[in-house]
Amino acid sequence: MLTNQTAVVTGGSRGLGRAIARKLAEDGANIAILYAGNEAAAEETCALLAETNVMAKAYRCDVSDYEATKAAIDQILADFGQIDILVNNAGITRDSTIRSMKEADFDAVIDTNLKGAFHMIKHCYGHFLRRRCGRIINITSVSGLMGNAGQANYSSAKAGMVGLTKAVAKELGGRGITCNAIAPGFIETDMTDALSDKVKEAAVESIPLRHMGKPEDVANLALFLAGEGASYITGEVIRVDGGLGM
Ligand code: NDP
Repeated sequence: MLTNQTAVVTGGSRGLGRAIARKLAEDGANIAILYAGNEAAAEETCALLAETNVMAKAYRCDVSDYEATKAAIDQILADFGQIDILVNNAGITRDSTIRSMKEADFDAVIDTNLKGAFHMIKHCYGHFLRRRCGRIINITSVSGLMGNAGQANYSSAKAGMVGLTKAVAKELGGRGITCNAIAPGFIETDMTDALSDKVKEAAVESIPLRHMGKPEDVANLALFLAGEGASYITGEVIRVDGGLGM
């Protein structure tokens, strides 16, 4: 059980982040979620988490902003007293072929998905080191493992998260801190809802299990990686993709 532990989940207002926050809360963890701007969704998540009788708070914070993430971590430490689990889940897409991809679309995806994770790890680093414990879980994507046409920015950011995960695992392993990554395939959230029916049908065709995943499928693995049973696993990237990335 994660009772008396605190988990920070970026992008916890919706989709995978909400499901992960909920799963960790059901196991007893207090939860701090970060979100970009969707106040109503963040409040809804907090209300769901409150049903599990844990402490839950939402912080509006752009993970691509170094100073804002520092302030958020400081505030979370003041509010909760400690951080035990960090889930770097916040992410965006700005899909297009390279021919029409604007520089700003490349930068935004790198800054949010990759640099955002770096910022969060950077600001939790000292706290984790002092306590000689901490679980870091980065949400990457099969797109970062296989590459995906029309997602040069997103695949680059997600591949970068794989490198980040392994570097952090090596750097912090000696202090009892683990860092792992989850690589989801197609999961039913607002992000994939935005895809056309044609793209979704083609995606399902290419998934050996022949259906999209649910946010809970990813949350189940996050719970395992946060728990006692995963204490000897670090630097690992685990797909939750119905076999897509084989
Ligand atoms: P959603 O679009 O459903 O939710 C995105 C979440 O990230 C929201 O909570 C949003 O906050 C938050 N967010 C976005 N930008 C920022 C930012 N700059 N700062 C802080 N928070 C931010 O995405 P999913 O749940 O589908 O995806 C979650 C993660 O999983 C992403 O990293 C995504 O790349 C990855 N993933 C998803 C897959 C899928 O099939 N769905 C497959 C593989 C990976 P707000 O609500 O305020 O907008």
